[in-house]
Amino acid sequence: MTTVFEKIIKGHIPSQKYYEDEEILVIQDIAPQARVHILIIPKEPFECLQKMPKDRLYLIQKVVEIAQMMAIQFDIKDSYRLLTNNGIEAGQTVFHLHFHLIGGEPLGPMA
Ligand code: 5GP
Repeated sequence: MTTVFEKIIKGHIPSQKYYEDEEILVIQDIAPQARVHILIIPKEPFECLQKMPKDRLYLIQKVVEIAQMMAIQFDIKDSYRLLTNNGIEAGQTVFHLHFHLIGGEPLGPMA
């Protein structure tokens, strides 16, 4: 099933883009949970982290490198959260792998 992120990647739905290369797209979250809340999205449509094949795990390194770069760009490099929700019970609502980079204010303990 086509997800909203596939539509964003294909340019069918608008988004605020912060970074893009051939494999990764970084956008503003539409409903930010903190002052900084951006989404780092591998373009290949993996349903979730658990479904990533071994030969694509290099993309996770790339996600982390881009998260570090974005943390500097958004001036949150000393405190941030980088996470992915894997599955419905973890809170995943869009079934196209993505990572939340959240910061810019005290985040408190994980719920
Ligand atoms: P999940 O709950 O799957 O971990 O995260 C999905 C995230 O996608 C949520 O934080 C939600 O606000 C965001 N989101 C859902 N639809 C859109 C959209 O159309 N545009 C953008 N930029 N973000 C979206």
